[in-house]
Amino acid sequence: MTDCLFCKFVSGEIKPNVVYEDGDVLAFRDVNPQAPTHVLVIPKRHISTLNDLQSDDAELIGKLYLAAKQVAEEEGIAEPGYRTLINCNAGAGQTVFHIHLHLLGGRPMGWPPG
Ligand code: AMP
Ligand code: ZN
Repeated sequence: MTDCLFCKFVSGEIKPNVVYEDGDVLAFRDVNPQAPTHVLVIPKRHISTLNDLQSDDAELIGKLYLAAKQVAEEEGIAEPGYRTLINCNAGAGQTVFHIHLHLLGGRPMGWPPG
């Protein structure tokens, strides 16, 4: 999608601070971090929201989590623990409509989330 910020990251038109990349997945540091580690893990293929997922996307979504796990290990937050989450639509706080898995860690996480 030409008007999608995260698709521009994938195409290389804009360069984020990349921490992981493979053929299907890109992970980069959030520009406005909410924790010492705040990484966004995205599929390279544009999917707007969780509501748009198809059954064919199951493997791709699994790859997002495997990438998050690897980044968490590299960031040294695997053992203390970390949070992963996907906001779906504006009511949950989604502001960029290219699906992204937040990986947050490096500080205690409260519950329930806001
Ligand atoms: P969400 O609110 O779940 O849609 O998350 C969008 C995230 O994208 C927010 O945490 C923003 O801080 C982050 N974000 C917005 N613009 C950029 C950017 N240019 N580079 C990195 N992260 C960004
Ligand atoms: Zn996109």
